[in-house]
Amino acid sequence: MAKYVSNKLAHKTKPSNKAAPIKKPNRPMTKSQPVIKDITYKSGMTVVDLAKEMNKPVSEIIKKLMFMRIMVSQTQEIGRENAELLAMEYGLEVKNEVITDQSRFEEIEELDDPKDLVERPAVVTIMGHVDHGKTTLLDNIRNTRVVASEAGGITQHIGAYQVKRHGKAITFIDTPGHAAFTEMRARGAKITDIVVLVVAADDGVMPQTREAIDHAKASDCAIIVAVNKIDKAGANPDRVKQELADIGLLPDEWGGEIPFCNVSALKGTGIPELLDTIQLVAEMLELKANPKRKASGTVIEAKLDKGKGPVATILINNGTLRESDSFVVGSTYGKIRRMSDDLGRKIESALPGMAVEIIGLQDIPMAGDSFKVFEDEKVVKDLAAQRKTRAFDEHHQEKQTLTLEEFFSKQEGNLKELKLIIKADVQGSIEAFRGAVEKINIEGVNIEVVRSGVGAVTDTDVLLAEASQAIIIGFGVVAPATVRDLAAEKGIEIRNYRIIYEALNDIEAAMKGMLDPVFEQKIIGEAEVREVYNVSKIGTIAGCMVTNGVMQRDSMAKLVRNGIVIYEGKIGSLKRFKDDAKEVRTGFECGITLDNYNDIKIGDIIEASTMKEV
Ligand code: GDP
Repeated sequence: MAKYVSNKLAHKTKPSNKAAPIKKPNRPMTKSQPVIKDITYKSGMTVVDLAKEMNKPVSEIIKKLMFMRIMVSQTQEIGRENAELLAMEYGLEVKNEVITDQSRFEEIEELDDPKDLVERPAVVTIMGHVDHGKTTLLDNIRNTRVVASEAGGITQHIGAYQVKRHGKAITFIDTPGHAAFTEMRARGAKITDIVVLVVAADDGVMPQTREAIDHAKASDCAIIVAVNKIDKAGANPDRVKQELADIGLLPDEWGGEIPFCNVSALKGTGIPELLDTIQLVAEMLELKANPKRKASGTVIEAKLDKGKGPVATILINNGTLRESDSFVVGSTYGKIRRMSDDLGRKIESALPGMAVEIIGLQDIPMAGDSFKVFEDEKVVKDLAAQRKTRAFDEHHQEKQTLTLEEFFSKQEGNLKELKLIIKADVQGSIEAFRGAVEKINIEGVNIEVVRSGVGAVTDTDVLLAEASQAIIIGFGVVAPATVRDLAAEKGIEIRNYRIIYEALNDIEAAMKGMLDPVFEQKIIGEAEVREVYNVSKIGTIAGCMVTNGVMQRDSMAKLVRNGIVIYEGKIGSLKRFKDDAKEVRTGFECGITLDNYNDIKIGDIIEASTMKEV
């Protein structure tokens, strides 16, 4: 995919007679790259060939295959499906293309029969600064499609929706905000073709605008700028253009590569032109897929539905997804029991570029997890089981565990980090809680959310909590009995809440409790050495008179000679006559030994002190 789009894409209202060439995708994909994100499958490839392609030792590849119960020798042909299974293991994507000339990536030969490749809808994400109108724009575009009642369905939020213009579909990812986009990207998912960058005409380039540009560029998406709120009195679209040009997004009408559209998301002005521009960019990107193959895709959203169980929205990247297909997704698997579109209508198959809600999952995957259909149901189960085991191994380490309550009592030690795992019934609760928790500011204590996710508390959560010494917080979700048992066994606390502020109160209190108390050394007594006895096995015993305060058995000690501290440590033993004493007060005699120190002389002063919290 191209980073920028050419000035041929200026929309129709603008003069566009510059003959800049349409840029072909220029993704660097040389084999010499140290980090390979995609791998190229060539038919007839052997295990050795694939290992080379993946930059991995052949032995490792064979071992992995053995774990998947695929027995092959080095020189044996690997086969497309096995290559894909392996690629999934490494988080790599198998491309359909073979690069014949590394200096000219345009020349790609499709592995699929070109006859099978068809145009697929562009996948668009809307990004931009807060309040610049992302949600309003998404709502407005959604409303341009056929009225729900006519289409026979009711709009439901599944994290993505499709609109049609001039008979061609465009898929919009309906989770505005950078967090979701970044998270998916961090997990290696590349689902967006085009980023529509919303910039309010009355506000201009803001911090999150820059952030969005960085994300879009890093993910190799085409960018279209939607200058929004042009209906407002203070709107100044030209200023926005200038500001964006200054930071490297040169408008096509100024000879650059970025199409700009002036819109009012609120009034609907310019929306058809924006959709046209999206389609022009999509055309240029030549987005193709093969509906004849088995489906692969990416999780956009997943949740636990009270009635339906685990449900996930999958964006189909390639292939056709059908009812009863067996699939692997993240570290779980399933078989499609029911699919529905964004209008809640039951569908039997889903084509590339479509987002569908699926039912039939064993567990709840995470946004960004890759999804893949496999012919063999057994392979699916084995693969998922193996991934689960790996997740278990990764998190299963012998470590001290703790509870929130313990923070109150554990005043000592270095517990300065409160780690949390947050599970909730809806993403909204997670975001609200996370936002609030991160705002709690207590000096000397850090709070870290090691994992957050939608759905019930699972074994993996407990194991992760154990490994990272975290506490699990659940909102509106419960942990099944088996998970509770595991948590009890591991000493992991699962705290359930319904109300966010109650959880926040508890956490704040715990954070205060876990603060290292401020200690000060406080002198409690002084004793003068009057006699010295050297006893073999014991060492030097100082016969002392307590001259001040009290000497305590477990106190710290300083040995002072002529005003100079010559030893600092602990009292080894404290005796009254022959008996051990807990403490000896002023005016009494006692025998004192110092911990690992024998050079005590008559006339020395032993000063006792303790650490006191202030
Ligand atoms: P987001 O935070 O980027 O999703 O922004 P919203 O879509 O929530 O919009 C923020 C505010 O700007 C809301 O009050 C919208 O009604 C308003 N708004 C959005 N688009 C327009 C527009 O085109 N014109 C005007 N006048 N207001 C808009």
